Amino acid sequence: MKFLRLVEYFEKLEATTKRLEMFDILSELFKEAKADDIDKIIYLGQGQLLPPFHGLEIGMSEKYLIRAISDATDTATRKVEETFQKTGDLGETAEEFVKGKGQNLTVKKVYEELTDVAMTSGAGSVEKKVGFLSNLFKGVSSKEAKYISRFVIGRLRLGIGDPTVLEALALAQGDRALRPELERAYNLCSDLGLVAKTLLEKGMEGVKKFHVRVGYPIRMALCERLPSSEDIIEKIGKAAVEAKYDGFRVQLHKDKNHIEMFSRNLESTTHMFPEIKEAVKNFITADTVIIEGEALAYNESTGELFPFQVTIQRKRKHGIEELAKEYPLRYFAFDLLYVNGEDYTPKSFKERRERLKKIIKKNPVIEPSELFITDNHEEITKYFDDAIARGLEGVVAKRLDAPYAAGGRNFNWIKLKRSYRGELADTIDVCIVGYFRGRGARAEFGLGALLGAVYDPKADTFKTVSKIGSGFTEDEFAQLKKILDEISLKHKHSRVDSIMEADVWVEPRYVVTVTADEITRSPSHTAGRDKEGIGYALRFPRAVGFLREDKKSEDANSVKEIIDMFEMQKKVKVG
Ligand code: ATP
Repeated sequence: MKFLRLVEYFEKLEATTKRLEMFDILSELFKEAKADDIDKIIYLGQGQLLPPFHGLEIGMSEKYLIRAISDATDTATRKVEETFQKTGDLGETAEEFVKGKGQNLTVKKVYEELTDVAMTSGAGSVEKKVGFLSNLFKGVSSKEAKYISRFVIGRLRLGIGDPTVLEALALAQGDRALRPELERAYNLCSDLGLVAKTLLEKGMEGVKKFHVRVGYPIRMALCERLPSSEDIIEKIGKAAVEAKYDGFRVQLHKDKNHIEMFSRNLESTTHMFPEIKEAVKNFITADTVIIEGEALAYNESTGELFPFQVTIQRKRKHGIEELAKEYPLRYFAFDLLYVNGEDYTPKSFKERRERLKKIIKKNPVIEPSELFITDNHEEITKYFDDAIARGLEGVVAKRLDAPYAAGGRNFNWIKLKRSYRGELADTIDVCIVGYFRGRGARAEFGLGALLGAVYDPKADTFKTVSKIGSGFTEDEFAQLKKILDEISLKHKHSRVDSIMEADVWVEPRYVVTVTADEITRSPSHTAGRDKEGIGYALRFPRAVGFLREDKKSEDANSVKEIIDMFEMQKKVKVG
């Protein structure tokens, strides 16, 4: 496919705010695409060159993009900057200066050239990146330059979430009912490009044969909630009960001496945990393996676990080795998904766990998570109280005969967390979709409250649930304004469903954790809105911590979870 053709589709996608229209446009695009191109088309449309777990970033700032435009078009940098100041959009700016007809490049060629930009690193790489990009601009038309510019600085913003791609792929095959099978494959490899390519090359037969592979993160299984130990036993009977560690989820892939680690939102985190890597090499007695567990900072002298704030410090680029000395880690392994060529995800939890224990040799870093099996709710409550006293977050109960549900939240795993009097039993993660300028003292920062939304995976949209105006310090309000202004939009984003009118709309990108007194019914919000127009809202919401850098927008809690928590809350009150 020619890149210009793809750009025409991008224009159409950008012009629509209707989700259904978006599915149609995308499915037309997928019908037209050949197997050789479809993966690249999907990656580019989602604003990336490869899925995030590859860690391939293009590494271009606005400043360098401006230089590339100016070099390619023989324009003074100052002139490009002036136009950028007027338009506020480097895409439109490039469009204005790149005047050539272009060489009718293919998607493949543009993709390769952009990959060259991304792969360039080390000394003098900035010059080389600018050079590659300006060369690319010389070979494209103004319209193409517009989208290439937006892509390289991460401002493509077409609003194509993963579920939208899956739905459109099924539609392109003429059968929406194919979506669950496509989703299954996606859950096993976290790579939509690979799923689509397999579909076009080998048909649904190929997709059905999709299996777990080492090096491709499996989309992680998540927990449901229940209010009490009694409810847990009633729901799943005899269960494995584990400590709930408050650290960093790590999915560990070992292929002989090649070791990689992935976070909850499927980014590569290998560089963060050098001691786990070392321990895997020496103490895991299997050639190929995928293990899941929680990594957290650990006080060697007292044997105490540190809170999340300490562990999260590993999320930095430099100085990891020093940090590893200051705050050593423990890795509590809680699941086994693959071992020596065998996919373990369909096996029962009990079987997975038994094998897991056998492949970990005793060592100071990796150990199986604490676990006991019971059908007695009093035992769970006792263990829960003890866990809280030891600074753990609570417990997770697991159904013994359940397979590993990749990419799913269901009652195979149930979490029980501490609840404070007058507060919801769990915090809620909302995605920020806009903000309000605020009145009085707040107006001084230009930001007084956030508009938070929860995720609706079926529609792939964000539905509002709360206005959050407390829990941040003054400094944080000022920082938030700066961060959000970077991703502000002229109109509400096409994936946002809201009745409230924010003063400033933003791209749904950042997640913040909030706590609240309770969930109430409200006509002001769209989350869970019924025929009468009544949705759900958080009462007295307040932010806990700052932005959740470890979560993607789609990792916000879902509308269904809000409704479930509302029902749970009613039950607790009556009981
Ligand atoms: P989400 O469920 O969306 O991940 P969250 O990030 O708020 O929400 P919780 O739902 O509170 O996390 O708990 C699930 C997380 O708990 C897992 O992702 C995992 O990182 C962590 N965890 C800690 N201990 C365990 C355990 N023994 N078994 C499974 N998960 C555990």
